[in-house]
Amino acid sequence: MFNRLIELFYFRKKTPMINLILFGPPGSGKGTQAAKLAEKYNLIHISTGDLFRYEMGNNTPLGMKAKEYIAKGELVPDSITVGMLENKLDKHPKAAGFILDGFPRTIAQSEALDQIFNKKNMAVSKLIALDVAEEELVTRLKGRAKTSGRADDADEGIIRNRIKVYHEETSPVFDYYDKQDLSHKINGVGTVEDIFSRLCESIDALS
Ligand code: ADP
Repeated sequence: MFNRLIELFYFRKKTPMINLILFGPPGSGKGTQAAKLAEKYNLIHISTGDLFRYEMGNNTPLGMKAKEYIAKGELVPDSITVGMLENKLDKHPKAAGFILDGFPRTIAQSEALDQIFNKKNMAVSKLIALDVAEEELVTRLKGRAKTSGRADDADEGIIRNRIKVYHEETSPVFDYYDKQDLSHKINGVGTVEDIFSRLCESIDALS
């Protein structure tokens, strides 16, 4: 009995938290894969896009502010986004880990995440980027528009702007974590299951 308790305690101490950033341009499949990974690895999935859509759907002040930017394919200001993300993290103090989908999307958000994680004694385990060519992204997003009901998917101009913003403001986030040896790029083209296997391989290499 005593040995078992020690074993349990030791196990608890040894199980590290997994905090993943699932990275990639709009339409690269982050949402689909994040949901599957959250289930397999028992992680809390936080999608800033979904959080904004929830707020917009409820016409909250935050949602109405976010809509001004999202409708144009621009990023919601960091001040709004970071606070929302931190609130969501705070709601899960006992989580085994998190999978962040759509955050961080700017260098300032990466720095803010470092500070938040430091305060909580947490760290980013790995950033995994889904690599998909631009024309494939546009085709996927236009296809998604038929079922998603998302105004930002319905217009090719807005889609192209989101991709442009990704290149200008978001792609440096990959290098930010690459400098800490935490970034890993995988091929984001193939079946959902193929890509899921590649992701699992990358995550399993952590332990
Ligand atoms: P996608 O990855 O297909 O663009 P998301 O659901 O992740 O879709 O995001 C939808 C929109 O929400 C973005 O175009 C942006 O306007 C806003 N958004 C989501 N996450 C962030 C973030 N971390 N910072 C700023 N804006 C964000």
